Amino acid sequence: MLILVDMDGVLCNYGAAFDKAWKTKYPDAPWFPSETATTFFIKDQYPEEWHEQTSTINVEPGFFRNLEPISGGVEALRALEEAGHVVRICTAPLTNYQNCVLEKHEWVEEHLGFEWVRKVTTTKDKVLVAGDVLIDDKPDISGLIVPSWTHVRFDAPYNRLSGHTLLNWSNYVEVLAEVEKERRKAGTLLTLRTS
Ligand SMILES: [Mg+2]
Repeated sequence: MLILVDMDGVLCNYGAAFDKAWKTKYPDAPWFPSETATTFFIKDQYPEEWHEQTSTINVEPGFFRNLEPISGGVEALRALEEAGHVVRICTAPLTNYQNCVLEKHEWVEEHLGFEWVRKVTTTKDKVLVAGDVLIDDKPDISGLIVPSWTHVRFDAPYNRLSGHTLLNWSNYVEVLAEVEKERRKAGTLLTLRTS
């Protein structure tokens, strides 16, 4: 399959970095741990009077470059390729792109190696990228057209009550095998050119 993998909240621990930076920058502010977040956007955890401050964290130089990898993710990407899948990274950049776009590429180079940099697509509209599967922690993803991929939600606190099967870096082999089976049955598996 052609497997698209999101970065923040899937390969990179965005929430932990936000929490750490938030407590450093605004020590007297309320803090809502990302580990128990009930909403996808961190901002929505906070009272309205703190919304502006929440948007000052991820634009800081170094924020995206220094995100800690989520355990098992990098290894899983390599294992999926070894198993014959084609893996691409599909990540939405901040509209305030100045540090984010560069640093996402730097993160990939550091943690996966330079050869993975060419496998990165940055787009605000992931439905425009073709794939069999999109592994993404965002609960609902829509855009300009009907996507070709099956969205598999990555395990995150705000997805746990959704009733959907959640993928993590321990169960991904089984979850993806099920998706492949369903797409094969539906005749929707993409035909990939091998040369
Ligand atoms: Mg994400």
